Amino acid sequence: MLDDQLIMTPGPTNVPSRILQAMTKPMINHRGPEFESLYESIAENLKKTFETKNDVYPLSSSGTGGVECAVSNTISTGDKAIVVVNGEFSKRLRDMIKRYGGDIIELSAEDGQAPSLDEIDSVLEKQQNARAFFIVYNETATGVTLRELEHIGKILKGRETLFVVDAISILGGDYLPTDDWNVDICITGSQKCLACPPGLALISANEKAMKVVEKNRNPRFYFDLIKIRKYHEDNSTPYTPNLPLFYALQEALHLLMEEGLTKRIERHYKHAQQFYDGFEAMGLQILPETKLRSKTVIAVRNPPGIEDKKIRDSLNQKYGVVIAGGMGSTKGKIFRVGNMGIISDREVITTLRAIELTLNELGYKPKQSAPAISR
Ligand code: PLP
Repeated sequence: MLDDQLIMTPGPTNVPSRILQAMTKPMINHRGPEFESLYESIAENLKKTFETKNDVYPLSSSGTGGVECAVSNTISTGDKAIVVVNGEFSKRLRDMIKRYGGDIIELSAEDGQAPSLDEIDSVLEKQQNARAFFIVYNETATGVTLRELEHIGKILKGRETLFVVDAISILGGDYLPTDDWNVDICITGSQKCLACPPGLALISANEKAMKVVEKNRNPRFYFDLIKIRKYHEDNSTPYTPNLPLFYALQEALHLLMEEGLTKRIERHYKHAQQFYDGFEAMGLQILPETKLRSKTVIAVRNPPGIEDKKIRDSLNQKYGVVIAGGMGSTKGKIFRVGNMGIISDREVITTLRAIELTLNELGYKPKQSAPAISR
């Protein structure tokens, strides 16, 4: 097994050595002044990354912990919750809300698709007393991005219904001005577009959200946002933080600030287009239609007669390039390439060329090579 694989999965991503090295710093007392300044620097840069004036809390858990934090703090037994379900991650979200006693109003769509604006408007019209509207902005299992967030946020602004967004596989790689779009709770994970190792969830909550949290009586302990907010005010965490990952996140956010958020997003757009152009030139079919295509997760249907597992195994063994397969109902039907974090022309060219060679070796003759990439 290579120790310098090119990780092109939809998270974790390749992590720059600057960030990896930050994790080797000595441990510090998490109840001391050094930790307070580390926390303060992270909290400040997270606000800029989320484009919010509200608190963003770093949690020592994977992304799912951040989602569970949002659900357990806002949903009480019997609360109505609208959920868009169009893939494995949104299904998980729905199941989690159910587990916390939520009364689900499901807006569903097939794999690779999304509910229409009319369907969204109709549910918003009918369900004015819902506690929250939950959405996975970028369905990582199918490479679909829902483009109606700004519209939904405008409608929900004047209502009591909270707008909760799972932006785990997209924040930092596509536009998401949390405050301007009236998102009340927003969650992301460290291992995606922030190019940090896995293991931290980041969650923002505004005043409207915290009012609901204060009234919520469902049990929660580790992820109690009231307690987390109280410690946050002192640049601290209620329980022992994952220090190496906090060091890594601080460095990842420095890197992001040096590049600039808009530039980072534009870079993701550019490389997503190169991937889509490349796969289409090879004659492959992209799962979602053009307007739904994600800039961070490229989902491609398997070529006829070739399983993605064969493609992925050969790609890894021969070229050291690692991509992902489908999940849930798309398992065995698609392969997915992550376009996240520190992606550059180098990673795109290597991945496209390695896939093209692999397909040739497996008996699929790509129509033509991926077009040359111009800088
Ligand atoms: N939600 C989405 C949209 C995701 O892409 C993921 C992970 O890929 C998760 C939730 C779960 O995150 P984690 O695996 O870090 O717990």
